[in-house]
Amino acid sequence: MSLLQSLLSLSAAGLLMVTSTLNTAAPQHDAEGYLFLVNRQWMVSEAFVPASLREAEVPGSVRRLRPEAAAALEEMFAACLEETGKTLISVSGYRSYGSQKNIYARKLKNVHGDVAKAQEYVAPPGTSEHNTGLVMDVGQKNNPHLNERFRDTEGGIWCRENCWRFGFILRYDEGWEDITGYSFEPWHFRYVGKENAKRIHEANVPLESWLPGYRAEIMLDLLKGTADE
Ligand SMILES: [Zn+2]
Repeated sequence: MSLLQSLLSLSAAGLLMVTSTLNTAAPQHDAEGYLFLVNRQWMVSEAFVPASLREAEVPGSVRRLRPEAAAALEEMFAACLEETGKTLISVSGYRSYGSQKNIYARKLKNVHGDVAKAQEYVAPPGTSEHNTGLVMDVGQKNNPHLNERFRDTEGGIWCRENCWRFGFILRYDEGWEDITGYSFEPWHFRYVGKENAKRIHEANVPLESWLPGYRAEIMLDLLKGTADE
């Protein structure tokens, strides 16, 4: 069966499935999933709240994450301690739309309404991945600052090389600024699930670049499934 015939033979329900799969770019369409984008283009709405959150049992602050991500973070921190002797700490996990809005408003006031300047430092409400509950900013004990120095700490080097084993990806790597819209952040780790993290790690590209191919794969699988019937 040709691709066109496959497309034509899709039931209305099948087409809906394809459409909803391709629409999972934003968390509003896939609140339980891991593979959606939140960035300056794909924003979460004020109403968006992750389905559930819990405090990760790790040293540090702002420890709330979605339960799957919290469990993975606990596993990752324990493995780092075991393999390097270094203790990682959480610095910033889930932030609500409301708290991001307050942080942004304060910054905007400080820079006398200069939007470009404010956005250099703070993500506007709805554009921060921290809204998803799938992100943790990680520091190393005795070096808890979120700056480029984390890259060269033992914990930072280990996280970069090993985070995928626990389902995390380094979201904003060096040289990806034009694609992600964010500067290099060696501390910012995003949970996507173990299988996906392994594949994204191997591809070594930003999530924005990896997702279209992944969605095309899902769509082809759906088409093949329809053609086999
Ligand atoms: Zn972050």
